[in-house]
Amino acid sequence: RSNAEKFEFQAEVSRLMDIIINSLYSNKDIFLRELISNASDALDKIRFLSLTDKDVLGEGDNTKLDIQIKLDKEKKILSIRDRGIGMTKEDLIKNLGTIAKSGTSAFVEKMQTSGDLNLIGQFGVGFYSVYLVADYVEVISKNNDDKQYVWESKADGAFAISEDTWNEPLGRGTEIRLHLKEEAGEYLQESKLKELVKRYSEFINFPIYIWASKEVDVEVPADEDDSSDEEDSSESSSKEESEDEDADKSEDEEKKPKTKTVKETTYEWELLNDVKAIWLRNPKEVTEEEYTKFYHSLAKDFSDEKPLAWSHFTAEGDVEFKAVLFVPPKAPQDLYESYYNANKSNLKLYVRRVFISDEFNELLPKYLNFLLGLVDSDTLPLNVSREMLQQHSSLKTIKKKLIRKALDMIRRIADEDPDESTDKEKKEDTSSDNNEKKGQYSKFWNEFGKSIKLGIIEDATNRNRLAKLLRFESTKSEGKLTSLDQYISRMKAGQKDIFYITGTSKEQLENSPFLERLKKKNFEVIFFTDPVDEYLMQYLMDYEDKKFQNVSKEGLKLGKDSKDKELKESFKDLTKWWKTALSKDNVDDVKISNRLDNTPCVVVTSKFGWSANMERIMQSQTL
Ligand code: ADP
Ligand code: MG
Repeated sequence: RSNAEKFEFQAEVSRLMDIIINSLYSNKDIFLRELISNASDALDKIRFLSLTDKDVLGEGDNTKLDIQIKLDKEKKILSIRDRGIGMTKEDLIKNLGTIAKSGTSAFVEKMQTSGDLNLIGQFGVGFYSVYLVADYVEVISKNNDDKQYVWESKADGAFAISEDTWNEPLGRGTEIRLHLKEEAGEYLQESKLKELVKRYSEFINFPIYIWASKEVDVEVPADEDDSSDEEDSSESSSKEESEDEDADKSEDEEKKPKTKTVKETTYEWELLNDVKAIWLRNPKEVTEEEYTKFYHSLAKDFSDEKPLAWSHFTAEGDVEFKAVLFVPPKAPQDLYESYYNANKSNLKLYVRRVFISDEFNELLPKYLNFLLGLVDSDTLPLNVSREMLQQHSSLKTIKKKLIRKALDMIRRIADEDPDESTDKEKKEDTSSDNNEKKGQYSKFWNEFGKSIKLGIIEDATNRNRLAKLLRFESTKSEGKLTSLDQYISRMKAGQKDIFYITGTSKEQLENSPFLERLKKKNFEVIFFTDPVDEYLMQYLMDYEDKKFQNVSKEGLKLGKDSKDKELKESFKDLTKWWKTALSKDNVDDVKISNRLDNTPCVVVTSKFGWSANMERIMQSQTL
């Protein structure tokens, strides 16, 4: 076109398109859910703006917040239109010409090195997936702040943008026209599109319509000799006429009605989704399958994996809200990579059914960032800025309740897991329902255990609840994971403290001289082998009135021993001599110990100093 401005795609976009076209061909279907999800995002944005400025919605059809799918079988065009926020010319250049999200860039890098198609599920390829099915795409868009523009590209490294002077005005929003490839003919079938919307876009909160054809029976007047086979003349207007005629000539026509039935194709907008949000429904009436599908739509993950757990509840009282929380089956790769800088929450916030934000960090503490879900509050005000919302006093209450529910949900994974119960309980319960839950907690622990530990460090209020969720190996756990409650149930009569030791691996710790006497006396010792465990144990002082004792630190007490005093007395001279011989720079003290069995002596750290393992960690961290 003469007035078109030409642009080149950012190099990464071209690479992403190559990857999409060359490696996702067996996954073509995804383009539709990406487009619908973008349309839904755009509708969310305009609805959000309209909360503080009603005028942005305009009037008439512009106020209808919906998504429309239309097919042109002859021209082989599939179009998806929304009345969302639309894009200005600048938006079109930026959003559909570069990769703004760091996540997608990371995806391109990883795809190029690993070629692992499963990564798609984790990243979502977005708009550019249109080139799986189309060789030419037009994006017509109108934002309130600009004129209507057309973006077009054949995925040949370049795109063009022109002011739109030939299409019908959109009013507001975006229409994406896909000129389908020869081999993508299946997407011209209504049934195929309906199936895809059902499968992938069921939980979109705006109505999705398709311009659907319908075969209807129409009564038309039959000629005396019945020679009329020109069916195309039978429009609905002729039907009305025939009725009028009937009325007129009722007397003589009644005996032999001269009409016949013909098939006629009509078109109408057919609604494809049920827009009643799942979280507004009664939890008892929502099936497991629906929750799983809902999870997949939130996570933009369309694998078959089920979430590990979910919690759907209504909070009542001063602060009212509904929430659905999910524990994903897997931790995202970057969950802990930038833990202390990133402020990323996966909870969507709605206020009275209106989507507000998915970047709202005030709802959950950082250590629960692995959860997915949404909160819909009736108490929060609608027509205030995001900044004001962030300061709203009821957020504290919401957060508190969400944490409680989240921890309950996690505890339930353990409670329902037959691997977690004691042997006695295990024998009693062998129902198939429990088989499905088998091993779920250790799966949870492997993926998210670190989050629980970070929680113990950061959340003093819930420390005890979190400590209950802690799992570890010990001298008596026989290669399995065990809990503090199980440890306590195995404690020897008279044992006051919970013993633990820290180090780099279980194998290294098992042979530690620090364990000799404890093992001989049949005390259980916990192995803490994760670097974060050192920090953890600075915060976790006690559990159920039992103190934690690091067996490699000074002052280890293994219960009362009457010989202790005697031994101390008789070796007094030796320890004194030794202490002066080693001098103050090398050791703080020399003492008689009761923790050793075969080894004659060990170096221990003082009660208040860093353990040897901590020294090691700190050294490895100094830059
Ligand atoms: P993502 O949706 O994850 O941001 P996409 O590749 O799907 O990435 O889309 C890129 C950007 O293009 C979006 O962030 C949005 O700004 C813009 N965009 C895409 N489709 C639409 C649409 N229908 N209406 C308005 N903006 C859109
Ligand atoms: Mg998108």
